[in-house]
Amino acid sequence: MASLPNAAGAAASGSSGARPVDKEVDFANYFCTYAYLYHQKEMLCDRVRMDAYHSAVFRNAPHFKGKVVLDVGTGSGILAIWSAQAGARKVFAVEATNMAEHARELARANGVADIVEVIQGTVEDVELPEKVDVIISEWMGYFLLRESMFDSVICARDRWLKPDGVMYPSHARMWLAPIRTGLGDKKREDFDIAMDDWSLFVQDTQTYYGVNMNALTKAYRAEHEKYYLKSSIWNNLHPNQVIGQPAVIKEIDCLTATVDEIREVRAQVTMSIRMEARLSALAGWFDVHFRGSAQNPGVEEIELTTAPDEHGGTHWGQQVFLLTPPLSVNKGDNVNISFSMVRSKENHRLMDMEFTNELHELSGRKHPAVTTKMYLE
Ligand code: SAH
Repeated sequence: MASLPNAAGAAASGSSGARPVDKEVDFANYFCTYAYLYHQKEMLCDRVRMDAYHSAVFRNAPHFKGKVVLDVGTGSGILAIWSAQAGARKVFAVEATNMAEHARELARANGVADIVEVIQGTVEDVELPEKVDVIISEWMGYFLLRESMFDSVICARDRWLKPDGVMYPSHARMWLAPIRTGLGDKKREDFDIAMDDWSLFVQDTQTYYGVNMNALTKAYRAEHEKYYLKSSIWNNLHPNQVIGQPAVIKEIDCLTATVDEIREVRAQVTMSIRMEARLSALAGWFDVHFRGSAQNPGVEEIELTTAPDEHGGTHWGQQVFLLTPPLSVNKGDNVNISFSMVRSKENHRLMDMEFTNELHELSGRKHPAVTTKMYLE
């Protein structure tokens, strides 16, 4: 999944655990899109996503056969229906939005209504009559953690998973890579046009209405800088845009992770550059794996990756974080990156990031560190 239509308007939705999340605001800003079939269909049409979950369930059918499954955020019900088709004895399919009604209908129409029990409500509040053997969920947002839905999966796991139960997916990783892209040039151009337009507005307002708006220029610039240059950009990149070694910046074991472990992500990585290029951005993406647990391994490990792929992308794409200014790099150079990502104070489902990059040329020359703030909204 990947959505959050009202990011800009989501300012009041609580913070990362310090303040309780206002449920009504969260419904208005976050859950509302998921109530549309239009949006569920977008996810159902993502072939990479669908193939991975389908293989994960059916090639690991022994994990499901005769077992009790909890589908966290069932949406249209697809993962619950597959779990039933793979032989589950019982599937609890929990969905917060009215999409629950469609899921119920779909389970009925596909002959598994006796196995799939759709429960409308948040998984945090749900009461189940028994513990479960498997938790399946598609909780991943842009750059894995946007939307913070994994918190709900952790809550469900701690409340309902049996001690020897398994998580689908079982593991997740976040990646960063140095890339070349023209996206920044376009954004800088758009930013300059917006600021030129503001100058004309200031002149006109003085001329025609006798008020000098210049006192607001700084704030207008900051607002637009954030929008054009400091917000990450969705893109499905071509692998040849990746100009150095991608690095893992976070690994999550879904069976043991805690909310504290994912509330903040900090990493220091070195990326070696493999060609002469203009390093204009970093790209972030994720992958998840379905491999059961050490105690209860799967039959076949399945990977769902959202890395750049020449054969097409996913609806998650990658997130592009512009570097200002871009750097000229050569084969053999190293870029050290210090990365941090915390939840936005205004909305716990959005992320504030900071990148500090330091270029060490192969020749030994070290460039000064440059820090960039970025927003994943
Ligand atoms: N499982 C479906 C839908 C994934 S989208 C599929 O794979 O196609 C994630 C769904 O989880 C959305 O429909 C959203 O409304 C639901 N959701 C998110 N957080 C939830 C929570 N805490 N409790 C119940 N449902 C939740």
